[in-house]
Formats: sequence, C-alpha cells, structure tokens
Amino acid sequence: MVESIANNFLLYLTMFYKNKFITILLLCTLSINVNSIELIRDVELEEFTKEIILPLTRLSNLEDNRIDFYFIKSKEINAFVTAGQKIFINTELIIQSETYAEYLGVLAHELAHINGSHVSRTKSQITELTEKSLPIYLLGILGILGGQTDAGIATMMVGSASVQDAYLYYSRTQEAAADQSAISMLCKAQQPAWGLESFLKILDRETSQSAKNYQYKTTHPLTSDRYNWLRNSYKKYPDCQKNLDLKLERKFQNVKAKLAAYTHNQDEIYSLYKNKEGEFAQYAFAATNFFSGNQEKSINQIKSLIKNYPTNPYYHEFLGEIYYFQGDHANAIKKQKTAMNLLSKENDLHLMMLGTYLIAESSSESIIESIKVLNKSLFLNKSNTYSWYLLAKAYALNNNLALAQYASAERYYLNGDRPLALEFAKKAIKNIDKGTVEWYRTNDLIELILGIDEKDNKNRS
Ligand SMILES: [Zn+2]
Repeated sequence: MVESIANNFLLYLTMFYKNKFITILLLCTLSINVNSIELIRDVELEEFTKEIILPLTRLSNLEDNRIDFYFIKSKEINAFVTAGQKIFINTELIIQSETYAEYLGVLAHELAHINGSHVSRTKSQITELTEKSLPIYLLGILGILGGQTDAGIATMMVGSASVQDAYLYYSRTQEAAADQSAISMLCKAQQPAWGLESFLKILDRETSQSAKNYQYKTTHPLTSDRYNWLRNSYKKYPDCQKNLDLKLERKFQNVKAKLAAYTHNQDEIYSLYKNKEGEFAQYAFAATNFFSGNQEKSINQIKSLIKNYPTNPYYHEFLGEIYYFQGDHANAIKKQKTAMNLLSKENDLHLMMLGTYLIAESSSESIIESIKVLNKSLFLNKSNTYSWYLLAKAYALNNNLALAQYASAERYYLNGDRPLALEFAKKAIKNIDKGTVEWYRTNDLIELILGIDEKDNKNRS
C-alpha cells in the first residue's frame, strides 16, 4: 500500500521588502506518500464533537482534562488515537453515522483506549506523526480558495504526513476492553449506549457495497467478535438504553450536511438529500451550491435559513464567508461578529477568520483591530500557523516590521523551518522593544533553535 508518488507542491515564501510583503512562488517537487492526509478544521464540527464527548471526558482522568480532535478529509470510514490524547476521525465516519449516537459510540471506544493507556505496537511512529506540522485545510471558503490566492493558506498546506504506518494496532484484549469500557462510560454518563453496536451494523452493511470501511476494518477486530463483547457489556448495565437528545441530534444533522457537501460532489448531495426536507437538507444544498460555484443560489438558501433560525451562529458564519469570497468585507465582518456573539464561546478559528476579514477591509482601524483579534486567536491556540501569518501581515501593514518579523519567526518555527525561523528572529530582535512579551519570546526562540541545532550536530559527529 505504501508507495511514493511525486507531487507538485506550491511552496510560498513570504519576505519583507520595504515594509511590504512579497510572495515568491516556487514550484517544487516533493515526494509524498499517496496516503498523506488532509486535516480540516471547522468550528461547528469541533464544538459539536466537544459537546457530545464532554459527559464522557468528565468521567475520565485526562491530562489537562482535554482531548485534541483531528478531522481527516476522507471518503473512507476510520477513527484512531495517537499518543498525547489525540483522536483522529475521518469525515466519512461522521457522514455515515445515522445519528450522533453512532458517532459518540465510536468516540467512546477511542476514548477508552486513551483512558486505559493501551499500548499500541507502533507508538514511536505515532509520536513522529503528531510532531510534524500537518497540512490543515479549512472547511469552507477559505479552504477552497487554497493556494490560489493567499500565501499563508498555502504555507499551512505545505508539508505532508502519512498515517499509513501510524495506525494503531491494539491487541484483541485491549479492543474488547475498549468496547466494554465504552458501554460503561456511555451508561454512566446517561448517553445512548446502543450507538456503537448500531455503528458496527452500518459497517457490515457497507461491506457488501463498497470498500469505504476498509481502513476501519484493518485497524479494528471483526465485528462479529465485537457484537459479543458489546452484548456481554449490556448485561452489566440493563437500564441504560437512553434515547437521543433531540437538540443534539439536530445539531448533528447540520454538521453532517455541511461535511457531506464539502467532501462529496453536488450530484451525490442531491441524491443523498433528495427526499429530505427542512433545515439539514437546505443547509446541505446551500453548502453544495457554494462549493460548486453557485453563490447567488447559496446566499438565498442561507438567508432563508437565517430567517427561520436566527440564533444559529453557523448560518451567519457561512454567509459571512460567502460575503468575504465576493469581496464584501464590511458585511463579512458584520456576519462573523454576529456568529461569534451567538456562539458566546471563543474559538481560535473564528478569531482567525475575523482577522482575515479585517485585514481585507484594510482601513487603519480594521488593521489595528485585526492585531487584537489575531493575538487573541493565538492566545487560544498558539499553533495556529495561519493566525501567525495573518498577524505578521497585519503588523507589516501597521508599519511594525520588527513584530512582523517576530510573528513570521513563530510561524516558520511551527512549520519546522528552523533556518528561516532563526533568520526572522535574529532580524526581529534588533528592533523589538526590550522587555516586552515578544522580546522575551524572540530571545527564547533563538536560544531554542540554536540549542536544537547544536544537539543535531553533536548527534551527527
Ligand atoms: Zn480500538
């Protein structure tokens, strides 16, 4: 399965020249693995996943009380965990789940592997995978614009990682334990515990029709064995067949609709949702119309959703993205702010999007506001390389070259480009105000990079 192909990558280098950004495009050929993965980020998907797993993580003994979720854009069903409390989920697994109970069942099983500290057979490779800077795409407009328009997004996508060798293979004993512990957690947390079994049935149904579940089947034991483990677990918890929470189910169907529209073509979406009416179908149509270039139709559909469901933050977010795409930056900012107020929960991605729109608006007030917003985004998630890129751009536009160089140093360091990170940090340190947070951090970065380089040299000799 592992074969290398040569792929063309657009590699962008952004440099400073007379306080302006100049983007140099290099077309280079990198050898990447065919199984390299594309990660996507989306606030609706992330917030929903965190919400449904919360009752289970409350019962767990997790470091920092958190799980990091990574969503892989893939038409194959799969889910796995890696070292450091990270759960990877393929988008198709969510799309194929009939209700959120199936999705939650799978999450519970993966969480049980983490809780049980199950040792996998390929741990070293996993650590390596998670330490690499993975290419991340955004679900939505910023995502599909991709490398065509903005250097930062391309930089975010440069680099690739393969999960082929990184799949975890647990022993059968550990798999059985994870299934049993999943049921126990779901019951104790008063969640629908039948979802995991129902998910396995979906897999079995898929088998005869396609190879969609190949990945999942190669990383998990036979479903027939798992049915037995699950049924034995039910005996211990006879009273726990909880029903679906209809509010959550509504949110789930929306997440599914948007994901499906992002990963499947328009014909597939129309056939998937043809007999379905109401909110989810409309959302799927609005999204698929946008992704296939029919903006006006998409705007009308999303506006009618907003009319009927004015408090759903994600409809406003989506409309804001379309406005941005059309160059209507003022309305994009307005919609994004509405979305963020309605969600009343800060997310680095939402702040990053707002930062993008504010920079595009390009008035001196909006540039200053973007600096605040982007610093907040990075406070919530300092590994958001695109926010670092935008922050550098905003500082440069605000004529603060030293801070722009500092932000670039952070970004290149995160992307694993130590020489360039060092170059930017050394330039920055000359002019940053002494004693500021950025000054300390730039010094730390220089020391950190020189330290790593020294260690590498020693290892080589
Ligand atoms: Zn497992």
